Amino acid sequence: MTLTSTEPDQTTPAETRLPSILDLAEDDLIYEVSKLGQPAFRARQLWRALYHDGAPSFADMTTLSKYLRSDLEKRFTIAPFEPVMELRSSDGSTDKVLFRLPDGELIETVLMRYGLDGHRRARRTVCISTQAGCALGCTFCATGQQGFRRQLGPGEIVAQVLHMRRVIRSENAELVAGGGAKKDEVPEITNVVFMGMGEPLANYGNTMQSISVMNHAQGMNIGARHLTVSTVGLVPEIRKLAREPYQLNLAVSLHAPDDDSRSRTMPINKRYPIARLMHACRDYIELTNRRIFFEYVLLKHENDTPEHARKLAALLDGMMCHVNLIPVNPTENGPYERPEDKRTAVFREILRHAGIANTVRQEKGIDINAGCGQLRARALADAVETSS
Ligand code: SF4
Repeated sequence: MTLTSTEPDQTTPAETRLPSILDLAEDDLIYEVSKLGQPAFRARQLWRALYHDGAPSFADMTTLSKYLRSDLEKRFTIAPFEPVMELRSSDGSTDKVLFRLPDGELIETVLMRYGLDGHRRARRTVCISTQAGCALGCTFCATGQQGFRRQLGPGEIVAQVLHMRRVIRSENAELVAGGGAKKDEVPEITNVVFMGMGEPLANYGNTMQSISVMNHAQGMNIGARHLTVSTVGLVPEIRKLAREPYQLNLAVSLHAPDDDSRSRTMPINKRYPIARLMHACRDYIELTNRRIFFEYVLLKHENDTPEHARKLAALLDGMMCHVNLIPVNPTENGPYERPEDKRTAVFREILRHAGIANTVRQEKGIDINAGCGQLRARALADAVETSS
């Protein structure tokens, strides 16, 4: 594990903060540029500089005139946060970054590299946060134990991907310069999963705006099929998402096959019990003709018995879906144990026998607390220790 960390700066006072240009939707950006007396094509150049080129500052946008760059600089900022801690796993596959937002809130982003051995389907996946903290209180999740702080703006969501893309681009440039690969052989960011801190569908508008930016052909150009939105099961928002024009992936955090077990670990189940959630999921599949990914964190003795596996198989019978089994990444103070491989194998076999497609999620970054909210919890604990 490698660790770099910068002393966190003072929080920027609200009255001196400039708005982030990354918070503007495409129409708003065109309008802002027109207010500066510039034609629409300048807005398109600016959009491309921000999202295609990933320029880190207005000064780097050499396609724009000096005057426009200086006008923009007086009105907006680009980076809506600064990295305060960056970790890399010992196998080099996973980076985790802790960002400090201007109001002092902390969020986490994870970059996962798959196929480092030159596999032709190599992927670079970013796992992003949509809220600072989370109100939903799942008992196995470090973020859930820290409570809700605030919603992230669309720019704060998109900027996490831009940051990680810069990391990947600089690695790729080094690799190509050293003769390790040809330019068209090295992937940029291939996938984005909305599975970091927070519940994306509880920040619906900002999540959707960030998706439109990531998916934009003249910008980041990440195909909707490579974007995965995860939810604990907010039923009205799942129904709303089914009517959006994007062919997104939907991942539903199920984590238990019956109301008793699910309500014990996921308080949201009291609001949207399993029958209601499954009804919405079946409607989603019918409307979109897309399969759903069910996430299932395996907690030893809590939800990983053969009985749980049989109930899960019955619940998902006939559904167009895929189950991702995730042996829990224990949190420091959490009560849960990771099941042994043998228990996981029995669980899988029951699902497989019932015809339910499933995989065990490849573990990444355990040595850098890559589980959602673990790094923030560690940073806060360190801060408390230092100040006491
Ligand atoms: S698992 Fe997701 S929804 Fe549940 S508390 Fe953690 S961040 Fe919130």
